[in-house]
Amino acid sequence: MALLRHHKFLCRSPEAVLDGLHAVETICRKRGLQFTKNRWLVLESLLQAEQPMTAYELLRALETRLERQISPPTVYRALAFLSEHDFVSRIETTNAYVPTPYPDHTQPYVFFICETCGSLAEIENRKLEALVDSDAASLGFRIGKRVIELKGACANCQAMELTAD
Ligand SMILES: [Zn+2]
Repeated sequence: MALLRHHKFLCRSPEAVLDGLHAVETICRKRGLQFTKNRWLVLESLLQAEQPMTAYELLRALETRLERQISPPTVYRALAFLSEHDFVSRIETTNAYVPTPYPDHTQPYVFFICETCGSLAEIENRKLEALVDSDAASLGFRIGKRVIELKGACANCQAMELTAD
């Protein structure tokens, strides 16, 4: 289906992680933004993660990796920058962050969150976007931020449920 683009974060290769970082680096250069070391490290951790990560999990991961203490505001500030420029998205219901799959264009995504394993799938759904836009127009509503999150069980976890019986 052309309207759906499925994006999973599981198992990103080291090359894909680097590609993601370079894509953001290029955009920052074009927009005159500073892609500082801390911002790079936070985004890198999110790109390497198999799941969305909370600020606290990021802090722990960075401390383990860098073998030193990091002040929480360092992570919060980096996340604030990355969110503000749409390089990462925040999952509202779990307060966790994921890298934006296509950071050079800001499309709304529908997040499918597995409540069992915590995995996340994102779909860019333009059909849904158009529906929401027409509803908003009929209400005279101006949309600011779009967050659509669906919780349930991923295909893997459903298969596990079946074999467990
Ligand atoms: Zn699952």
